[in-house]
Amino acid sequence: MKDTIRSTVQEHLNEIFEITKYLYENPEIGNEEVKACEALSTSFEKHGFQVERGFCGIPTAFKAVFDSGKPGPVIAYCAEYDALPEVGHGCGHDLIATSALLAAIALAKELPETGGKVIVYGTPAEETAGAKVEMAAKNAFAEASVVMMAHPSPVSETSGTSMCLLPKMFRYYGKAAHASACPEAGINALDAVIQLFNGVNAIRQHMPKDVQFHGIISNGGAAANVVPDFAEAQFYVRAAKKATAEMAMEKLLKIAEGASLMTGARLEVCKFEADYYDLCTNQALCKVFVENQKAAGDTVNPAGDGSGSLDLGNVSHQAPCVHGWFGFGDASLILHSRDFADRTATEEGRQLLQRAALTMAQTGYDVIVNPELLKEIRLEFEAL
Ligand SMILES: [Zn+2]
Ligand SMILES: [Zn+2]
Repeated sequence: MKDTIRSTVQEHLNEIFEITKYLYENPEIGNEEVKACEALSTSFEKHGFQVERGFCGIPTAFKAVFDSGKPGPVIAYCAEYDALPEVGHGCGHDLIATSALLAAIALAKELPETGGKVIVYGTPAEETAGAKVEMAAKNAFAEASVVMMAHPSPVSETSGTSMCLLPKMFRYYGKAAHASACPEAGINALDAVIQLFNGVNAIRQHMPKDVQFHGIISNGGAAANVVPDFAEAQFYVRAAKKATAEMAMEKLLKIAEGASLMTGARLEVCKFEADYYDLCTNQALCKVFVENQKAAGDTVNPAGDGSGSLDLGNVSHQAPCVHGWFGFGDASLILHSRDFADRTATEEGRQLLQRAALTMAQTGYDVIVNPELLKEIRLEFEAL
């Protein structure tokens, strides 16, 4: 590991850890991260970064840039800083934000010599509406050569995968009628929803093993003596890869149309939540990242099962990504708990901040000074 990166991280560690503690003491939920956004932006400006507040038209998003003015790769870090109701920073986003800040400060110090640019994207609301989804849809990450982030966790793990999640809402419009006196005059919208579920249940058997359909009836009529003229179902399609999820979604759309044909109820398909793509960890980038994580003093375990969905997934379809997990070395700790939040503001939190910042700064440096590595990263990304 480069001596000057070590010394810059050491020099600013306590100053930046004060910001971690400030975020811990002032937890704000998604899209309300006003204090966090301001504290981080102010620190970036103090360290010579240009900050664009309200980036992508999202009030608590920002983009902080340090440009050497010389050509070279663009190294990007993602900062998350939203907290959870009741448990505050139980997901450790106070450390995600500050490790991105400290890594960026350390890498910026090297740039006058190496060339290139460092960007930190301030990405709000990871726990709720996932601002990265909207930011990726606006191509915000396309200029980055690589994107990295560090997430606290009970024990350290390599960057793995997360599932693609595509939500859809199906609305059926029928015709109300007295259920006993003149049912023949009605069109039963609930029957369409029931046929939709039956069709989905029939097709599960013939889908790849990783495909999941999760559905609920969000409106099934108002009274048993009225033929329902409106019924609505919400579905999630999940799969390990975006292409598989999209294939399964096409089947679901056909079934939904079939239910409409069978019953005569008119179908309207709409979006009710954002699409989360699977996280594609760039293995060439991840290999260097893990070597640096070990050099920073961490013990790194293999990646977990990746059954959840992350908004960094959408970023990983736009630029090569790594999502490192940095542990407190305590497998009994539980994410999204008060205990986890408390741990972030302790000496162990300070050490985690140091390891994560060192790893990300050094990996950024390696990408800049090693064109062969960047080429390998790029080739892997383009083959996605
Ligand atoms: Zn979380
Ligand atoms: Zn989290």
